[in-house]
Amino acid sequence: MRAGSPRRLTAIAPKGLTKVFYSDDGSTAVEIALKMAFQYWEQTKKKNTKKKFIAFTGAYHGDTFGSMSVGEIDIFVRKYRPLLFETLRAPYPYCYRCPLKMSHPGCKTACLGVLEEMLRERRGEIAACVIEPGFEGAAGMITAPPGFLKGVRRLTRKYGVLMIADEVAAGFGRTGHMFACNAEGVSPDLLCLAKGLTGGYLPLAATLATDRVYSAFLGKHDQFKAFFHGHTYTGNPLGCVAAIANLDVFERERTLDALKGRISFLRELLDDIADLPHVGDIRQTGLVAGIELVKDRATKEPYPANERVGHRVCMEARKSGLMIRPLGDTIVLMPPLSIKGHELKKMARITRECIERIAR
Ligand SMILES: *Cc1c(COP(=O)(O)O)cnc(C)c1O
Repeated sequence: MRAGSPRRLTAIAPKGLTKVFYSDDGSTAVEIALKMAFQYWEQTKKKNTKKKFIAFTGAYHGDTFGSMSVGEIDIFVRKYRPLLFETLRAPYPYCYRCPLKMSHPGCKTACLGVLEEMLRERRGEIAACVIEPGFEGAAGMITAPPGFLKGVRRLTRKYGVLMIADEVAAGFGRTGHMFACNAEGVSPDLLCLAKGLTGGYLPLAATLATDRVYSAFLGKHDQFKAFFHGHTYTGNPLGCVAAIANLDVFERERTLDALKGRISFLRELLDDIADLPHVGDIRQTGLVAGIELVKDRATKEPYPANERVGHRVCMEARKSGLMIRPLGDTIVLMPPLSIKGHELKKMARITRECIERIAR
């Protein structure tokens, strides 16, 4: 396979994503998707009014200005707020602390209703809706209940808005599927990939698009409809070779099949942590989990930020040879997909012991 050939990617991508634009990191992959979505409407509508984006509460899409604008995590974006473009914000299903103060599944995913309301009122203004399928990573491994993503796809279709799926974290097996979109049979209009694309070894990212989006960029030379965006390392051959080697490993080792057992074993191991007195919520999807620590389990009262409980748990774990990271007071377990059963067991044991020792 020729380096840079998109066929390996389009063969495994959700249906309809036939075109690939390469770049070098996740933020850029998102930036490109935002620009493509914006330009798509500029070039297909006579008097374009679709210039805004809808994104979700707790979203993280990267550190460049466009991706920060659609992101929400305050500590990352607060200082730059005056420079960011306005984004409409729909509630992501953080069911443990439901933004609508309801509970799943009794709520029948009422947060989709809020999104629909927004789309109904302002559809003429919305270029695209950006979402992290499967789970919101940086927000604390917030896993979306089944059906949510499908609902977002249904609504974006209904109201004529493009859907951008940011699978920079979820893509390439993390959720147990090649892409989180696959779990719900969803095909977005634009798909952002990075991190796992090369197994994390070399920087490479990709923004995939449908024929429909792609064809809006075709025209005579003097119409200048092309997508004028290019970095020095766009489609870097070494990155592409690493990505192809990584996809070969997925095939050769049947990684997705092998993951099934590891995912259910992780679920069992997490059950054993769930009963600790300061564990408020455990959220797992595929081979990723967030363990949210709280001061008071009954009221879900968080620890004061300056106690840095999550950070201290992770520092404690290092003493036993386990490197994990917190997101606030949520302990993240995101082991390599190739992790062995006994290693998972050790990871869970150390995590449990350190939480017991530190979280009081
Ligand atoms: C990490 C991440 C990004 C940014 O990717 P970089 O390669 O760090 O620029 C964007 N979106 C999501 C969901 C991520 O997890």
